[in-house]
Amino acid sequence: MPPDLAQCAICRQNIRDALTAIVMSEDGAAAHFDCVVKKLSDEEELRSREKICYLGGGEFGIVRFNSADSKKFTIRKRIRLESAEYDPEWRKSISNGLST
Ligand SMILES: [Zn+2]
Repeated sequence: MPPDLAQCAICRQNIRDALTAIVMSEDGAAAHFDCVVKKLSDEEELRSREKICYLGGGEFGIVRFNSADSKKFTIRKRIRLESAEYDPEWRKSISNGLST
């Protein structure tokens, strides 16, 4: 296990797993993935069949599923949170440990 990496900007708990953390701004403020999803769910007005999802590349989005049991969805709104250019040192040390 890596040492405690950073503190979540939302719940103030330590982030122990960098792979589930989101860096929210250039200054390196990080938050748990789950906390970010919850925060966005609170801030955005979700309509029926809409859900906050991670789109990749630092972007979250509000996606709307075509029907309750459908896997097809459309992206209603994109929310960029993580700077794509931001590459924190602690994340690098994790990815360096990956065998490719
Ligand atoms: Zn948190």
